[in-house]
Amino acid sequence: MSHRVAVIGSGPAGMTAALYLSRANVAVDVYEGTQPGGQLTITTEVDNFPGFPHGIMGPELMDNMRAQCSRFGAKFEMDDVEALTPRDEGFDLQLAVAGTQRFDAVILATGATARYLGLPNEKRLGGYGVSACATCDGFFFKDVPIAVVGGGDSAMEEATFLTKFASEVHLLVRTDRLRASRIMQERAQKNPKIRFHWHTEVADVLGEDRVTGLRLRDPRDGSLRDLAVRGLFLAIGHTPNTSLVHGLLELDDAGYVRGEPDSSRTAVPGLFACGDVKDHVYRQAITAAGSGCMAALDCERWLTATKA
Ligand code: NDP
Repeated sequence: MSHRVAVIGSGPAGMTAALYLSRANVAVDVYEGTQPGGQLTITTEVDNFPGFPHGIMGPELMDNMRAQCSRFGAKFEMDDVEALTPRDEGFDLQLAVAGTQRFDAVILATGATARYLGLPNEKRLGGYGVSACATCDGFFFKDVPIAVVGGGDSAMEEATFLTKFASEVHLLVRTDRLRASRIMQERAQKNPKIRFHWHTEVADVLGEDRVTGLRLRDPRDGSLRDLAVRGLFLAIGHTPNTSLVHGLLELDDAGYVRGEPDSSRTAVPGLFACGDVKDHVYRQAITAAGSGCMAALDCERWLTATKA
């Protein structure tokens, strides 16, 4: 093995990149990040990843990918990547524990993180009724009323899922229109346990030790009212995890890495990007895995062409 590549991130994009590279006999270190396995580890059943006719649990799918990478020699590191610096024909990774490590190329697969409203009491009550993952936490809200914020596909999906547990799901939409696809809207609108609240923003989260209610605001006139709920689920989109490449790569208006079409190459030779950190359109496990494969192939070709 002559080349050394760092893969930053261990969701389907990072894992697939690591699989292809290690199988091509490239030495790969995968930096797993704060959520090893990525967003699929906080979901339950995955029904739409091809090859699993009966579905598979998200964490199990990621364990399988990890084992498959390990079989070809990819190494998994828990260390935090604090900085990424291009330097003389390669890259320095500043690691929290292991110090500076040198790599020939880097694949950025850092994914995206769920967005919060930014309210002080939302943060204080995080884990005590406030959640951004219905599939992780829905179980704890049996037979109590809860609220979901958002009007996209995530909000429809989460609200529908949460009706399995909650007595009533209040869906809070800040305008009078949904961004969700028609099929997801219809499914939510047909569900008798879901109640839509239009022109409704969350002004505050109420409760001492855990959520007891929400203060809601009508953005049209600023009027306030309280709603008694035991849980608040955020489904207002994601923010791409790009802190390592600020100032290094161009980002689009939403903060995603701007890339060339049909390629994982970035403006920095030897630095490739894949998965949700550059995809705000599809955001599926299978598309992330596919783009991880593209990044590995682009990286391998680049290594062969420039460092053989
Ligand atoms: P979206 O960006 O599509 O939707 C975000 C929603 O949150 C919008 O309704 C937005 O309102 C609202 N919102 C944003 N900020 C606030 C705020 N501060 N207060 C209140 N509401 C807010 O994100 P999603 O996560 O829903 O979806 C992302 C992508 O993933 C989409 O492409 C979607 O199709 C896909 N997806 C597909 C699924 C599936 O097919 N099974 C499931 C989940 C996601 P506004 O419209 O007013 O801006």
